[in-house]
Amino acid sequence: MKIIIIGAGPGGYETALLAARRGVEVVLVESGHVGGTCLNEGCIPTKSFCRNAQILDELRAASAFGVTDLSYGFDFSAVRARKDAVVEQLRGGVEGLLNHKNITLVRGKASFKDAHTIIVDDEEYSADYIIIATGSVSASLPIPGADLPDVLTSREILDIEEVPKRLCVIGGGVIGLEFASIFRSFGSEVTVLEYCRDILPHFDSDLAKRLKQSLGKRGIDMVTQAQVLSITKDASCLVTYSRKGKEETVVADKVLMAVGRRANVSSLNLADIGLEFTPKGISVNDVMQTNLPHIYAVGDINGKMMLAHAATFQGVVALDHIMGVSNGIDLSVMPAAVFTSPEAASVGMTEDECKEKGLAVKCLKSFFRANGKAVAMGETDGFCKLVVELSGRILGCHIYGPHASDIVQEACAMISRGASLEEFQNIIHAHPTLTEVLQSASAMMEI
Ligand code: NAD
Repeated sequence: MKIIIIGAGPGGYETALLAARRGVEVVLVESGHVGGTCLNEGCIPTKSFCRNAQILDELRAASAFGVTDLSYGFDFSAVRARKDAVVEQLRGGVEGLLNHKNITLVRGKASFKDAHTIIVDDEEYSADYIIIATGSVSASLPIPGADLPDVLTSREILDIEEVPKRLCVIGGGVIGLEFASIFRSFGSEVTVLEYCRDILPHFDSDLAKRLKQSLGKRGIDMVTQAQVLSITKDASCLVTYSRKGKEETVVADKVLMAVGRRANVSSLNLADIGLEFTPKGISVNDVMQTNLPHIYAVGDINGKMMLAHAATFQGVVALDHIMGVSNGIDLSVMPAAVFTSPEAASVGMTEDECKEKGLAVKCLKSFFRANGKAVAMGETDGFCKLVVELSGRILGCHIYGPHASDIVQEACAMISRGASLEEFQNIIHAHPTLTEVLQSASAMMEI
């Protein structure tokens, strides 16, 4: 069997490796760096910045821990250099893995010649199956000034020369909040302009409200229900927005446009081969198969869930379907994390989703301020919320607070295995650990 995979991000390269290990001949096409958006200009470089942000925050708080007479500087070029080194190291690792006898890595931009053939730099390739994993690109607003040089995408802000004194972030979603949090720690005055009533519109609304307060306490100006109208540039950028019928402005040195991402369908020539797609992305069924049964689409390109790990697991589902292998993967139980300070993380259904679906649920909460480890660490801001069906089945878990992204994984494991509250309560957690917030929440009520 031969498979062509277009795009070597977490969807494409992980699927290529799995297929190759199973003895499938793979042609993997990539026009940029292997690793895709996540490794080169997304998850990994931002997490490198997050570490710098954390160190700066800890230095600022050091006197509360008895550290005195501390003096330090901040060299942003060293921060960028470290970020580049982290990315390069991991990229080298992926390149090494892809150096597999069953994988041919083709460098260039692929487009379809016909439904079974792609062209890359005048070279034609055909295969039994094709998996499209070309990811997404930053979206922008159709407003005057959106294309000004100081209006940056999430890729461009990673390589700016200096920390902006004033940063205006348009969009209070995952990308906007992560950069707002990072640059606040780096010393910027940050304003976030979010169109909806709440930040993180797809997350639990309770969590979103409290995280907004926490970020506000850190000095980030959080403005919701703000419709951005225009950006002009004189000595600085002037971002004009309307809120409750009144026009207001934010003055900034740099503006980050973080209003979502759109599927990268351009240049693939999809319309000519009759492959169905919408502005949201390529249309696929539950096993990532398109309307042309030998072509699959995984990751951001299908617009289902723009997360690196979603892309990887959608790739497994697609490959298993192609190869007739069964698996127990439940793509509906998808953890998501926001690497702000404090972090936020979520898996399963929110309370609001349950209400919309008419599901009767109870919500059990615990707070980090009552967690011994969190108090000892001096990081008590945050809560854990379990959404539990009246039958006792756990449907969702929503956390903000220290290490929320790691803690949520336990809830993910339990929810994906259909665990009940009682089973959850019976699991012994080591003391003192942050994961005891889960145990405390589960103990809040007997069902
Ligand atoms: P997003 O959809 O998460 O958030 C975009 C935000 O912009 C929304 O809150 C939306 O209401 C707001 N918005 C839209 N139009 C606006 C306007 N005119 N004015 C003000 N606000 C406006 O998109 P994103 O943050 O750009 O992230 C893109 C994708 O990448 C998401 O699917 C996200 O989950 C994913 N991602 C995930 C992670 C992670 O898992 N840690 C990190 C980065 C990105």
